[in-house]
Amino acid sequence: DFDARLSINSNDEIGSLAEAINNLAEDLQRYRDTRQEFFANISHELRTPITYLEGYSKVIKDRLYDTEAERDQYLDIIHQESQRLQRLVNDLFELAKMEEGKISLSLEWMDLTEITDNAVRKIQLKANEKGLQLNTHISRVVPLIYGDGLRTEQVLINLLENAVRYTEKGEINVYLKEESGFVYIAVEDTGIGIPDDEVPFIFDRFYRVEKSRSRQHGGTGLGLSIAKKLIELQGGELLVTSTIGQGTRFEIRFVRDEQEEPA
Ligand code: ADP
Repeated sequence: DFDARLSINSNDEIGSLAEAINNLAEDLQRYRDTRQEFFANISHELRTPITYLEGYSKVIKDRLYDTEAERDQYLDIIHQESQRLQRLVNDLFELAKMEEGKISLSLEWMDLTEITDNAVRKIQLKANEKGLQLNTHISRVVPLIYGDGLRTEQVLINLLENAVRYTEKGEINVYLKEESGFVYIAVEDTGIGIPDDEVPFIFDRFYRVEKSRSRQHGGTGLGLSIAKKLIELQGGELLVTSTIGQGTRFEIRFVRDEQEEPA
């Protein structure tokens, strides 16, 4: 372990230098801890689906099943876990690029009306399959925002997928509005909600409320941390409010641009 604290008790410049060095040492230690935790998390997340793949493919290979239906069930699990691995690897790659500042945005004047329409259309089927009503309240006259249209749509799809994933019955409402200098897209669901004391952590990498339950829902725990970074890179904000047992509301908020818009 690591203890490089300097114990110098003086109020002069040497004293404040010692304190600065101590703070630096602490920062470094914290950085090492989070790095280690990050890699521990990655290993865990990768190991879990691999364990399933290994186990169930062996069961099938050794014909340790009684019926074809049972075998199909195992094949389903193998398929799902492969998809999870794929998502995980994609998300990790995206996150790595962002953390190194290597993600390049394609900035343009975005039409949020079109973006919201597209995202909603892509999620409609999933909502229908779960018997959830998907309602839109989309203003047709919001100002264009200077940002990355594809990434914004990607974030919105992610929020909509979460809304479907964490809602068992009721509805999902999508709003696009301009209000007091902001243009925002909100996704409101009537789902399981998030406990008050966990709300501050949901944008952290790998954080999931009630781990086992979310795993069963097929998430990676990376979606929201990526989403938040993508919106902030465009100068926007991603906000959340939630009531446990009642539902959750995410809001992508952009400041209305003062600059001249293209004609
Ligand atoms: P995941 O891939 O696990 O969904 P996210 O980063 O997208 O990861 O979300 C982090 C966690 O936040 C989820 O595991 C879930 O516990 C919680 N969460 C996200 N969206 C919602 C929602 N609409 N309703 C309730 N909980 C949510």
